[in-house]
Amino acid sequence: MSLEQLRKEVLEANLDLVTKNLVISTWGNVSGYDPETKLMVIKASGVPYVKMGIKDMVVVDMQGNVLEGNARPSTDTPTHIALYKAFADFGIHGIVHTHSQYATMWAQAGRALPCYGTTHGDYYYGAIPCTRELTAEEIKSDYEVNTGKVILEAMSSSDCLHMSAALVKHHGPFVWGKSPEEAVLHSQVLEYVAKMAYCNETLDPRLQPIPDVLEEKHYSRKFGPNAYYGQN
Ligand SMILES: [Zn+2]
Repeated sequence: MSLEQLRKEVLEANLDLVTKNLVISTWGNVSGYDPETKLMVIKASGVPYVKMGIKDMVVVDMQGNVLEGNARPSTDTPTHIALYKAFADFGIHGIVHTHSQYATMWAQAGRALPCYGTTHGDYYYGAIPCTRELTAEEIKSDYEVNTGKVILEAMSSSDCLHMSAALVKHHGPFVWGKSPEEAVLHSQVLEYVAKMAYCNETLDPRLQPIPDVLEEKHYSRKFGPNAYYGQN
């Protein structure tokens, strides 16, 4: 895939955040990674979605240098870079950050999102982790790099292909996938299950997570080595 093609994909994925009700105003950003050139395309900082075009898709290297375009990249660029450095070799080539409402409520509460049903289990294997708080030092300098660092800490016992999101405490979700488009889908699913989990706990405060055997069944029939969900 050419970088020009990737810029188109990243633009479409950014616009899709609006269609899927995951962002308002200028919030949120999607990036895409090209494994051949090891370059990333990310939304420019602070651009309203209604005015967004291909010119607002900035090409950046893994040191954060802007290679193409005059626009300044998203302020969250160092967080995206930290995640690609850890996950790109496993095939993660799309990252999304939003403040989608329900997922952000769990992040603000500092709570991992428990798996309460098969809707969650079909996409996310286990509870979606929440990071620790950043220290004052981590906030004052290299804040966005350190946001990536706490996400990777929270992911230390998870496989990035089976757990494609983390909630940053007091902030919101970072979500990834094999492409920008897949990362947007995972963001939409995250918001859907975050809302259901909130309502579920309201319905029944003693609710327990889904039994392991059922969670395993649902995840593996879709993504396991002998998956049989969907068409070949
Ligand atoms: Zn944010």
